[in-house]
Amino acid sequence: MKATLMFGAGDVRIETVPDPVITAPTDAIVRVVRACICGSDLHPYHSMAASERGRPMGHELIGVVEEVGPDVATLAKGDFVIAPFAYSDNTCVFCREGFHTSCPHGGFYGTREVGGMQAELQRIPQADGSLVKVPGTVDEALYPSLLTLSDVYLTGHHAAHLGRVAPGKTVTVIGDGAVGLSAVLASRQLGAERIILMGRHTSRTDLGIEFGATDVVAERGDEGIAAVMDLTNGEGSHIVLEAVGHMPAYEQAYGIVRPGGTISRVGVPQYEEAPVGFGSLFGKNVTLTGGPAPVRAYLEDAIPLVLDGTIEPGKVFDRTVTIDGVPEGYAAMDAREALKVLVTF
Ligand SMILES: [Zn+2]
Repeated sequence: MKATLMFGAGDVRIETVPDPVITAPTDAIVRVVRACICGSDLHPYHSMAASERGRPMGHELIGVVEEVGPDVATLAKGDFVIAPFAYSDNTCVFCREGFHTSCPHGGFYGTREVGGMQAELQRIPQADGSLVKVPGTVDEALYPSLLTLSDVYLTGHHAAHLGRVAPGKTVTVIGDGAVGLSAVLASRQLGAERIILMGRHTSRTDLGIEFGATDVVAERGDEGIAAVMDLTNGEGSHIVLEAVGHMPAYEQAYGIVRPGGTISRVGVPQYEEAPVGFGSLFGKNVTLTGGPAPVRAYLEDAIPLVLDGTIEPGKVFDRTVTIDGVPEGYAAMDAREALKVLVTF
């Protein structure tokens, strides 16, 4: 099969590799119908050390079950499925508490052992827990939105959920990438009264307005903080959803959060040490939350919203490539010519 391998920073290639096979009785093999490139794939694209063997890439897919292992009970060949970006058994104590990304039998894709989803076929460990079936015949027009339930939309939802977004609340979203825009849409779904989107790219913030943002702040740093404080009568935002991961975004977050408010982070922090003292969190009684999204916990509730057209998160895709075009897809996202790239097969 064809698969995407990264051999070092800026070096993505499509190679022919052996088809994946069932290695545990709980595995399934899925034929990939659509995959995509994630903003987080750009981190190794910038910094990965050269590797002779290459690293399999991709962790988002919708597809059709091709084969199941003998212990897989809930799936059969031909089922149309969504795979969350992490696999999990969906039965252990952490899964039952809604934190599937901490499943002791779970893990992440994009390794030699498990493979990556920017490929024609993918082995899915813990298939009964990891895959969610989409009922009925699936309209191809819904593929992009269903694919966002693999990661990006539900990562935005996770931020809003942990931030306890609710009617009457003012939410500020930091970051106009696909996750930030998804956080805007999810906040609207949860009934936020006001949604301030902090981002500089007009084409992206325009989609943010379509998704429900009521205000856009293009300024950053102290100017950005001042602009949000102005918009909120100097009070600040009840909830700040941080979808970037760099320190300036965190500084912005504690600068604009309201006393008693919550900062919820889903941008993977590129730092381990950060201010938590009187001048940042403590003085304002601020709650800090967030982490890797347990997409699996939210997936079943989100599928009907896509199927009935309530939400259309697939609008974040603004470019489509075939599997052979994946390297140009990386280049386009890296150059910010594309917001998010869809991969067809
Ligand atoms: Zn588990």
